[in-house]
Amino acid sequence: MKNITILGATGTIGINTLNVLKQHRHEFEVIALTAHRQVERLEALCLEWSPRYAVMADSNAAEQLQQRLTKKTKKNPPVQVLSGTEGLTFVASLPEVDIVMAAIVGSAGLLPTLAAAQAGKRVLLANKEALVMSGQLFMDAVRQHGAELLPIDSEHNAVFQCLPPAFKISHPPPLKTGDSSSNPLKGEEKIQNPNSKIQNMAAGGLDEIGVSRILLTASGGPFRTHSIEQLHDVTPSQACAHPNWKMGRKISVDSATMMNKGLEVIEAHWLFATQPKNIEVVLHPQSIIHSMVEYIDGSVLAQLGNPDMRTPIAHALAWPKRISSGVRRLNLVDIARLDFEAVDFARFPCLQLAYDAMSAGGTTTTILNAANEIAVQAFLQERLRFTAIPKVIETTLSRLSGRMADFLETILEDDARARKLALSVISEQ
Ligand code: NDP
Ligand code: MG
Repeated sequence: MKNITILGATGTIGINTLNVLKQHRHEFEVIALTAHRQVERLEALCLEWSPRYAVMADSNAAEQLQQRLTKKTKKNPPVQVLSGTEGLTFVASLPEVDIVMAAIVGSAGLLPTLAAAQAGKRVLLANKEALVMSGQLFMDAVRQHGAELLPIDSEHNAVFQCLPPAFKISHPPPLKTGDSSSNPLKGEEKIQNPNSKIQNMAAGGLDEIGVSRILLTASGGPFRTHSIEQLHDVTPSQACAHPNWKMGRKISVDSATMMNKGLEVIEAHWLFATQPKNIEVVLHPQSIIHSMVEYIDGSVLAQLGNPDMRTPIAHALAWPKRISSGVRRLNLVDIARLDFEAVDFARFPCLQLAYDAMSAGGTTTTILNAANEIAVQAFLQERLRFTAIPKVIETTLSRLSGRMADFLETILEDDARARKLALSVISEQ
């Protein structure tokens, strides 16, 4: 029996996680569930799952949840209701918890996800923004505290599945000198378990295990074939109508601008300790191949499956074992064809902005992420045009330089500065 905390339980990933857990009730126990403000949704989940703790990030929402649960159960609720970042970090690091699903959207996920890594948990990472904001610090925490990091993002989960079975995500090597992206990295890193040959090799980078490239696939989102003129007038509901995946609104807009792929390139850089030039993006509109790994002998390994997040969730929950996920079987005859296209960087400038931020290093990716979150929020509230999203991010980046990202305080400071600046850039639009 494994004990699990689900951060972001009311979201798309949270609900998919609970769906998989429902199929394996005897193997996992839900210890804590968290949400932001959706009281009714978390209440329903508490009544269904009877966790020991429920956390609402918003304190008013936490009070409401407490009252509702008390009324419903007509006695002191068996579930303890907590609130705020303190409550989130508390349930992410409980001694009795084995697994933490990190599925809060955006920068709000950073502190609880980091707390889970510092408590040495198995961290199932969906919250890519945490890694984009604080890659070096986060990976250092994973290594120093012996956490087990498993990717939920379908592309990174696919890459992980295409790497040698003994490969573990915990040993980011210093990148080679002369590579501009090595700015934020510190000196030689010690290998945690010198007995593992693969770990030793991984510590030298993916090239040491014969990997020449990571190929991240991208569906291209709902606007893959739109012209720049057509992109000008798109609405939030059009942007959130992803052709292949049902996701939260923020990541849906990120997919439409292709910033999601940019964040994923940065995520891959940290997870697999590989240089930006070895991470390529290829458009694959059917979302059947979730990503690929190319080896120096010319072999390209791919992971395929129907686009359903329950596959990577089940994989990471049970790894290195396999459990059923409820995902429909892949029928290649029905699919009939798999297409590939090059990315058009001119129509989707966010991807280039992400590559450039990654090369600049330090808190530049923190600034990129913060400006993107603010711009996406403004677009969703119909205060900003879709095509202005990359402009806001670019202008914010041009007015605020990144710093070394060695300390959490620096990262949080630059995150806050970038948010403020992005808001003022939006008011100039
Ligand atoms: P959703 O918007 O569906 O859910 C977000 C969850 O985070 C909700 O539980 C929400 O609570 C909670 N939350 C939102 N803001 C805060 C906050 N300030 N403090 C604490 N909790 C908060 O997002 P998704 O499930 O789609 O995505 C979650 C993460 O997973 C993102 O980082 C995304 O990039 C990543 N991901 C998602 C994929 C997908 O298929 N959906 C695929 C790959 C990665 P409430 O309901 O109360 O608002
Ligand atoms: Mg993805």
